[in-house]
Amino acid sequence: MNLSSPIASEAAQAFAPARYSGIAGKAVLNTGGASGIGRAMAHGFARHGARLMLLDLDATGLAATKAELQAAYPSVEVEVVTASITDPAAVEQACADTEARFGRIDILLNNAGISMNKPSLELTPDEWRRAIDIDLSGVFYCAQAAGRRMVRQGGGAIVSTASMWGLASSARRVAYCAAKAGVVSLTRSLAAEWAEHNIRVNAVCPGYTSTALVESLLARNAIDGEALLARTPLRRFGTPDEMAEVALFLSSDSAAFITGHALVSDGGWTADGF
Ligand code: NAD
Repeated sequence: MNLSSPIASEAAQAFAPARYSGIAGKAVLNTGGASGIGRAMAHGFARHGARLMLLDLDATGLAATKAELQAAYPSVEVEVVTASITDPAAVEQACADTEARFGRIDILLNNAGISMNKPSLELTPDEWRRAIDIDLSGVFYCAQAAGRRMVRQGGGAIVSTASMWGLASSARRVAYCAAKAGVVSLTRSLAAEWAEHNIRVNAVCPGYTSTALVESLLARNAIDGEALLARTPLRRFGTPDEMAEVALFLSSDSAAFITGHALVSDGGWTADGF
């Protein structure tokens, strides 16, 4: 499906990335950096002069993102680690590697995730566990391992990629909605608990965004693209760059008083009938 529309092209032309202070020189651990929103975040943070550790299961995608960043920003410091966020020991090792390379972890972009669309009566225990393991438990393991270091170093910022489905709910997405609602909830809990350590914890809640994840759902007819566009007040899908922009804002000095917030970027979906 062609995800562009007249409104989408106008929005793309009008999109001028902002510049945020407080990002240059920061050590950033970015999960899911091989693709989609995480890849766009890597570009956005590299453009701002951050130092990047990209974590993903997809070694080929990681190498591609790293090469793109080095071509676009010749002075960028970027490393990659192939690991699963569902493995607490691997997550701990990735955080240790990030600290060894950059001396600290200032920002965690807790973004890796999968979709899980299926009627509830057909969802197998393995599918339920897979969605919860990746989309919720993995997000907690990363926050905990990075958070321990942020406590020791006296501060940091965490931005997790939840979803509009963490705030709204939907048929045939029970595991995904439950996991993403869990991400919004853990964001608030950790924000309250770690504020005394100068750690801000926020979430971005994207609506439908043009990435491989959505393309694969469209290809399998797991979602109806035309119906989704018709349901979205702005009549287009979001772009990965627009989600990266939210993560940049939430990580930056501009958001210094914002913690425990779930910022929705969904073209008006949740406003219309939520
Ligand atoms: P994507 O498939 O393009 O990228 C996700 C990345 O996460 C992939 O590179 C994948 O290899 C990686 N990943 C998956 N499981 C992993 C694991 N166990 N350990 C490490 N890495 C793993 O998808 P995307 O659309 O960029 O999604 C990024 C995040 O945004 C996800 O958390 C997703 O739920 C969320 N989100 C996406 C949309 C959308 O419409 N695209 C909407 C709302 C929320």
